[in-house]
Amino acid sequence: QTANPKPHVVIIPSPGMGHLIPLVEFAKLLHFHHHFSVSLLLPTSTPPTAAQTTFLSTLPPAISPTFLPCVDPSLIPHNVAHEVTINLVHKHSLSYVRSALSSLSNVVAVVADIFGTDYFDVAREFSIPPYLYFTTNAFCLMFFFHFPSLHETVSCEYRDMVEPLVLPGCVPLYGKDFVDPTQDRQDQVYQVFLNTIKRYIFAEGIFVNTFLDLEPAAINALKTEDPNRPEIYPVGPLIQSGLGGDPDEGQECLSWLDRQPPSSVLFVSFGSGGTLTHEQMNELAIGLEKSGQRFLWVIRAPSNSTFGSFFTQGSNKDDSFGFLPEGYLDRIKDRGLLVPSWAPQIKVLTHESTDGFLSHCGWNSTLESIVYGVPLIAWPLYAEQRMNAVMLNEGLKVALRPKAKESGLVEADEIARVVNELMDGGEGKKVRERMKEFSELARNTRSEDGESTKILSQIAKKWSQNS
Ligand code: UDP
Repeated sequence: QTANPKPHVVIIPSPGMGHLIPLVEFAKLLHFHHHFSVSLLLPTSTPPTAAQTTFLSTLPPAISPTFLPCVDPSLIPHNVAHEVTINLVHKHSLSYVRSALSSLSNVVAVVADIFGTDYFDVAREFSIPPYLYFTTNAFCLMFFFHFPSLHETVSCEYRDMVEPLVLPGCVPLYGKDFVDPTQDRQDQVYQVFLNTIKRYIFAEGIFVNTFLDLEPAAINALKTEDPNRPEIYPVGPLIQSGLGGDPDEGQECLSWLDRQPPSSVLFVSFGSGGTLTHEQMNELAIGLEKSGQRFLWVIRAPSNSTFGSFFTQGSNKDDSFGFLPEGYLDRIKDRGLLVPSWAPQIKVLTHESTDGFLSHCGWNSTLESIVYGVPLIAWPLYAEQRMNAVMLNEGLKVALRPKAKESGLVEADEIARVVNELMDGGEGKKVRERMKEFSELARNTRSEDGESTKILSQIAKKWSQNS
């Protein structure tokens, strides 16, 4: 046993930057504000990407990342939903986590994420309380708690339900906008999802990356609806601080932004792994061109899967852009910049030239936009992003949303219309103002005596007393 004087927390993020970033931010808070030391145990099925190692290299010594042994790829079937892959990686990493826990001392809590509920039992074997860090919002958590009963009471596919689902404190939600794993009841991912979320009630407590002023009704309903549920702790918004890392990263796009007029650029990005079909990419390219607005587009080669680059984010850069319409680069060169694969998103969002964000509505990107007051165009692709888009557009009214055709395709004219509306129109003005209000509330709640700060302090105190 290693002697370890500080109370220690073990955090286990699922594979993928979108899971790693928020859990690392949580680790930083625990360390810098509450003096815990933290072990990050990283289950994986592929070697670490450059983006991951650069990101992790900036951590202080008290937060120590360990990549667990790579799960044998032959144990993971091809062509399964990425949630199934993540679930299998976790299942095959249980013994590694068990042996890591047996070599650590003074562990006061194990924190797993949205897919990591199998680790709850391992933590209990060591009499350590297991917590869940829910990387998305209260709306989605409410949906997860209600889903097992929907599964019992609804017999059709959810997208065929005529009426929207109305959850306490939440915006009405049509079945077609439910999270991806629920969209086909026959698919293996459906059962994996159901089994995972049924275990949420076994957590000692659930941290949610949201804040009271953003979702007051949903958070209050989560706290009061059912006394058997774990305690809910809204501790957000926790976003990547954007500090550290390679200082030269993305220098080209930052210098380009420096040369643009203030508040004139639309940032276009689909998260760490989102991809568009070839047809959709063409429409987006032409739509951005037709809008006449300035834009900075993080672009990846098209794919028929919406999360084509999820596990290889930051690598596989293809900067030839041969998939774009002929002559495109020449035509847009005075107004648009294309960046292959990855951009320093925080630096872009905080740049004075940036004034709008066409986003896939991944929750980290959404919170970053909220914190920095950048209004959105919602373009959801996968996971819970359609739910986020509904909440942002219809609930919070901080996003505009282009209308898709029956086939799902969003055409160039519609893209140009909504881009112009956001950047110059009356609706754009309204969502921009609302976004600025939430931005202020977001900063207040994480300030020294803000609500989210207080909630985390309470739990940190409880953990320290248990050490
Ligand atoms: N990100 C970035 N540069 C990129 C793409 C993504 O810095 O080019 C960061 C972004 O700031 C966010 C995270 O990666 O913190 C993506 O998380 P999100 O939940 O938005 O989407 P996901 O990648 O999980 O779909």
